[in-house]
Amino acid sequence: MEYKYAKRISQIKASEIRELLKLTEKPEVISFAGGLPAPELFPMEEIKWASSHVLTHNGEQALQYSSTEGFTPLRKWIADRMNAQLGTSFCDENILITHGSQQALDLSGKVFLDEGDVVLCESPTYLAAISAFRAYGCEFVEIETDTEGMIMSDLERALQTHPTSKLIYVIPNFQNPTGRTWSLKRRQQLADLSAKYHVAVIEDNPYGELRYEGEPLPSVKSFDRSGNVVYTGTFSKIFCPGYRIGWAAAETDVIRKYVLVKQGADLQCNTMAQMIISAYLENYDIDAHILSIREVYRRRRDIAISTIRRYFPSDIKYTVPEGGLFLWLELNEKINAAKLLEKCLEHNVAFVPGNSFFPNKQKLNTLRINFSNMQDDKIAEGLIRMSEVLSHMFP
Ligand code: PMP
Repeated sequence: MEYKYAKRISQIKASEIRELLKLTEKPEVISFAGGLPAPELFPMEEIKWASSHVLTHNGEQALQYSSTEGFTPLRKWIADRMNAQLGTSFCDENILITHGSQQALDLSGKVFLDEGDVVLCESPTYLAAISAFRAYGCEFVEIETDTEGMIMSDLERALQTHPTSKLIYVIPNFQNPTGRTWSLKRRQQLADLSAKYHVAVIEDNPYGELRYEGEPLPSVKSFDRSGNVVYTGTFSKIFCPGYRIGWAAAETDVIRKYVLVKQGADLQCNTMAQMIISAYLENYDIDAHILSIREVYRRRRDIAISTIRRYFPSDIKYTVPEGGLFLWLELNEKINAAKLLEKCLEHNVAFVPGNSFFPNKQKLNTLRINFSNMQDDKIAEGLIRMSEVLSHMFP
C-alpha cells in the first residue's frame, strides 16, 4: 500500500533517544541516556492518599470532562508560585494546563508557526522541541551560546537577517542538553530584543526548581514588558512525569489562542490527574519534597563530575551544571560519539550522542550524560566503564 502521507511526516525523524531507550530497558544496562527522574523519589504514599481522597470526596467531578483551561485551584497555585519565585505577575487566567510542557511546545508551534517560518534556538537545544516545531514546517537558525547563555549580538544579527523569524526558543535554567544557565543580564536582553523585533519567546523551564548551588534567577518572563514571552513549566521533574501535567503561562490573549488549538488536540487534560496533584499540594509540603530531590541529584551530579575528572582523558571538556539533570561532554575532535556509544552498549552503558541536539549542525564529538536516574554506585561504575572503552578505542 502506498500511503499519501503529509509532507511533514518526511521531515520528522525517529527520535534517537526513544530508539535508544528501547535498548536501555534491559536491567543490566547502566543508562545515562534518558532524562528520567529517579522513580524511588516519587511521593508514592502521598499520591495513594491524594488519589483516594479525590475519589472519595469529588469522585464524580474527577471522572467527568472538565474545562480546556484546566482545574482552577491548580492554575491558581501555579500562578502564585511563579509570582513568588520568578518575578511574574500572573493570575489563574494566565495559565493553561497542558499535557506535560511538551504539549505546550507543540501548541506553541501550532499557534505561531507557518511553513517556512524561522525558529531561533540555542545551539544545541532540546531534541523533542526540535521535533515539535519541525512538524509545523519551520526552519531552525542555531544561535551560539557561551557560559552566560545565547550570545545576544548573534541573536540580533539573526533577527535582522531572517525577517520570517517567529519564535525564539530557550531553556535558561540548566539547559537540556548542556546543563548551562543564563545570566541575569542575558535574560533582560532577550526580553528587550523580543520586544524590539516583535518576535515571541518560548521560555521553557522544566528544571528551574532543581538548583543545587548558586542563587535562583528571575525568569525572562519577569522582564517582558511587551507580552511576547510564553513560559512553559511542568510537574514532571518535581512530582512525577506519569500524570503528564504541565502548563503554559502567558498574557490572556495568547492563552486564549492556546486554548483554541488545545481544544482541537485533546479537549482537556486528565481531570483526575489535575485534582490529585492539587490535593497533594493542598495537603503536603512540596518544598520539603523538592529539597529531598535536590539533595539526591546534587550528590549524583558530584559523583558524575568527580568520576569524569578522575578517569576521563584530560583533553575532554565538560559542563558543571548548577542544577537540572544533565551534563555535556565535548570529546577530542577525532572521536565520534555515536561510534563510542555502539561500543559502550556492548559493555551495557548508554548515553546520548550530542549530534541530534543540533537541528542543522554536525558536532559528532559531543554527548549528553543524565545523572538523575541511576543509583550512586552505578553512576561511578558506568562512567568508569565508559572511560575504559574510550581509552581502548582512542588510546
Ligand atoms: N522541555 C525540556 C527542555 C525537557 O527536557 C523536557 C523533558 N525532558 C520537556 C520540555 C518536556 O517535559 P514534560 O512534557 O514531561 O513536562
